[in-house]
Amino acid sequence: MTSINNFKPGSPHRFKGISNGEQFDITAQNIFFAAGLYTVNIYRSAGFQPPQDYWLKGNYFTLNRSGPFSRLIYPVPLEGGLGVHVTIDMGGQTRFGPDTQAIETENYDVDPSRSMKFETSIRKYWPGLSDNSLLPGYAGIRPKLKTAGGGAADFIIDGPEQLGFEGLVVLHGIESPGLTSSLSLGEAAYTTMFGNA
Ligand SMILES: Cc1cc2nc3c(=O)[nH]c(=O)nc-3n(C[C@H](O)[C@H](O)[C@H](O)COP(=O)(O)OP(=O)(O)OC[C@H]3O[C@@H](n4cnc5c(N)ncnc54)[C@H](O)[C@@H]3O)c2cc1C
Repeated sequence: MTSINNFKPGSPHRFKGISNGEQFDITAQNIFFAAGLYTVNIYRSAGFQPPQDYWLKGNYFTLNRSGPFSRLIYPVPLEGGLGVHVTIDMGGQTRFGPDTQAIETENYDVDPSRSMKFETSIRKYWPGLSDNSLLPGYAGIRPKLKTAGGGAADFIIDGPEQLGFEGLVVLHGIESPGLTSSLSLGEAAYTTMFGNA
């Protein structure tokens, strides 16, 4: 499935989209939606008022040689993110990130000029970082939820009680550490849909 572009909650729920270039039209009794950045569109197409959200891009830079680190280094967290920390990927390459960059359109390019801010952050725990050692790596985008007053809000698992439809669960604002917590999130989503087994 490449895209769901129309969703009508009901009994059963009905959704339409495009898969491999072909239109599809599916009905289902139970649906879990976890559409990341585009979960607001699922809410809207179903006629619900979506929670307010905004996007924060997280950029990564890699070190252009082998680094001195043998374990992960996490500085004190910042507003909106964990701070520029060190991870070592499966190939042994040292990478730094992510930072936090407010954005309005989806774009995964890493702007090389951001490396100066990275150097400043990294030198707080690794003063030995030499100039021009960082290469643009990759980027991801977090969906962040806001309260009505504009403050930071936690992620949401909306179910039949909040949405008013049986068999419908929507996960929204699932950001770090959503991947690490995926089993717990799955359990919470299941319980929201079916109650305690
Ligand atoms: C920079 C960065 C660093 C992170 N680091 C960590 C970390 O160290 N540890 C950790 O645990 N988590 C981390 N996370 C968070 C983790 O990546 C997310 O919590 C997790 O990916 C959320 O999963 P999801 O399934 O809700 O959304 P996503 O992973 O975004 O998946 C949503 C899916 O829905 C699809 N989709 C959207 N709209 C439609 C549509 N209309 N039709 C069909 N498909 C659609 C998208 O293509 C996508 O495949 C990080 C995130 C970022 C951005």
